[in-house]
Amino acid sequence: MSLIKDKYQRIIDYMRISITDRCNLRCIYCMPSEGIKPIEHKDILGYEEIIRIVRIAAGLGVRKIRLTGGEPLIRKDLPYLVSSINSIGGIEDISLTTNGLLLKKYARSLASAGLRRVNVSLDSLRPERYREITRGGDINDVLEGIDEAENAGLLPIKINMVPIRGFNDDEIEEFARLTLKTSYNVRFIEFMPIGAKEIWDHEKYISTEEIKERASKIAPLIPVKIRRSGPARYFRFEGAPGVVGFISPITHHFCNSCNRLRLTSDGKLRPCLFSETEIDLKSALRCGASDEEIERLLRLSIEIKPEGHSINHEKCFTHLKPMSKIGG
Ligand code: SAM
Ligand code: SF4
Repeated sequence: MSLIKDKYQRIIDYMRISITDRCNLRCIYCMPSEGIKPIEHKDILGYEEIIRIVRIAAGLGVRKIRLTGGEPLIRKDLPYLVSSINSIGGIEDISLTTNGLLLKKYARSLASAGLRRVNVSLDSLRPERYREITRGGDINDVLEGIDEAENAGLLPIKINMVPIRGFNDDEIEEFARLTLKTSYNVRFIEFMPIGAKEIWDHEKYISTEEIKERASKIAPLIPVKIRRSGPARYFRFEGAPGVVGFISPITHHFCNSCNRLRLTSDGKLRPCLFSETEIDLKSALRCGASDEEIERLLRLSIEIKPEGHSINHEKCFTHLKPMSKIGG
């Protein structure tokens, strides 16, 4: 089986693919209230284009695919894409990041198509606040979607929460408590100065250290080792069925173990979330490039993958494309 490393000896085996920049929510920290001018349909990669890229990437050593967006569940015929990717030799794992609103409808067909797991973004457990943060979402749809995903065997369920001071940070303990009665992985993600021009302010950012201290008020958090834990560091309350995870893009850069490439919905390969450097695969595909030429571009994006990023909570990166455009 092939394996590809970048020049810093990191094995690159993971591709995060944004399949749309559109979304059925407008979370206050991700999108402006008026939304973002969507990429035109003709400029969005078609499923056959994505499948071709994944096939060539699998030949290089990519094993894991995560589908994201925007909101991936609003794109038509997603089970077709999942089953097509699942049938590509070398691909071992397909997962999805979603706001969960449409999970109830699609969890079973996605699981049958070969999807292994879902990460559900949920930033409040209170219906009114959830509606405010998402500018209109109904939390009951998400909770029913999570149940359906669990029933469909998309396990473990990972819940991603971004604590923001003054918005939802008083729910940190409540979220951590979920792991006492469910087997969820509840993961806290540091708020990043990216794409949230209207509300970003470094005082709203909360470090992992503070989040962990606040969650630890319930009981001591014991470190646990989870295979393929990616950028998250995991802990458990004694005897709890679930685990608490921390993803710290600001305070604990995970650049030295970064194994991923990103493909945007308009076909740009992005070696790093925080760099504006992109390689235009779509133009190559649509100009009749051969598989060898596409492979060369994939190799190039691995070659130019930076050693790390310099993001911190004091510098403002809100000029970067929002997460919904890059693929969160
Ligand atoms: N719509 C899907 C969802 O919400 O899960 C997938 C795309 S969304 C852009 C992916 C993730 O990016 C979500 O978990 C969201 O919380 C996160 N995100 C967006 N903007 C962020 C920011 N400024 N800081 C930290 N996380 C952010
Ligand atoms: Fe949509 Fe996800 Fe961004 Fe919320 S975080 S606006 S659900 S893309």
